[in-house]
Amino acid sequence: MGALLQTQKQLGRKGLTLHAGFAIRMPGSYLVKYGAFSVAKQKDLFNKAKVKIETIVKMITNQQGNKIERNNFLINAAGNFAYNSMVPKFPTLDQNFNVNEKCTSCNTCEKVCPVHNIEINNGRPKWRGNCEHCLACIQWCPTEAIQYSTQTNDRKRYHHPGVLVKELYRES
Ligand code: SF4
Ligand code: SF4
Repeated sequence: MGALLQTQKQLGRKGLTLHAGFAIRMPGSYLVKYGAFSVAKQKDLFNKAKVKIETIVKMITNQQGNKIERNNFLINAAGNFAYNSMVPKFPTLDQNFNVNEKCTSCNTCEKVCPVHNIEINNGRPKWRGNCEHCLACIQWCPTEAIQYSTQTNDRKRYHHPGVLVKELYRES
């Protein structure tokens, strides 16, 4: 929900108003801290999301406004603090990535990186220190050859079941 507040702020700087803001809870994907949710939990969240999306579509179709959905003040403040203190560190957090012998030189990690931060060198990924910390490379490596330090060794990867890896490939 922090993203909605950030969007509202950015639009405000340009003199624009955000008339509606909706949050849909999805399975978490921050592999650095936790592995994929159970399949049952994922299904539950997808079902709830489907119901909420139908409501949102109706509201948008009817051009209804909606207050910007947000967490309570304390959660927002903690989230903002964590976000603002972490963002400047993102580019070099890729120093924590490492690749093991399971790598098949398929280049998927290089192709899904949205900011060209990976080059394949002698068949293995090399991170360039300009990371956005999106974790696409580690989540989508088909052989789970990428780890983040050692904390991801035993964690299940997560992909939304409706998304194909090819849909994430950069155009260029
Ligand atoms: S996606 Fe995985 S297997 Fe493919 S090149 Fe990257 S590290 Fe190697
Ligand atoms: S895919 Fe994301 S996490 Fe991986 S190197 Fe690129 S920006 Fe960083």
